[in-house]
Amino acid sequence: MAKPKLKEHRINREWCKGCGICVAFCPKNVLELDEKDKAVAVRPEDCIACRLCELRCPDLAIEIIVEDEHGIENKIRSGQ
Ligand code: SF4
Ligand code: SF4
Repeated sequence: MAKPKLKEHRINREWCKGCGICVAFCPKNVLELDEKDKAVAVRPEDCIACRLCELRCPDLAIEIIVEDEHGIENKIRSGQ
């Protein structure tokens, strides 16, 4: 099966408390905190969809949305 392609970093700004865990764990330096201390994907093109940010976020504020080979959106978390 083809590797799922990253579609979106879905970040819930209400839930994000700016702890920076996702920023620290991202192996590709995709994420940063903005001026309001909310996580943002500043280099989404570098994301390898490893999900570390999603798994480590204590507030479930970040979700990695991928697309399969047919362009169908999929939340990895719901596929578990
Ligand atoms: S780990 Fe979660 S709560 Fe912490 S900065 Fe990242 S998205 Fe926000
Ligand atoms: S899925 Fe992995 S590479 Fe992509 S932003 Fe999250 S931690 Fe970084």
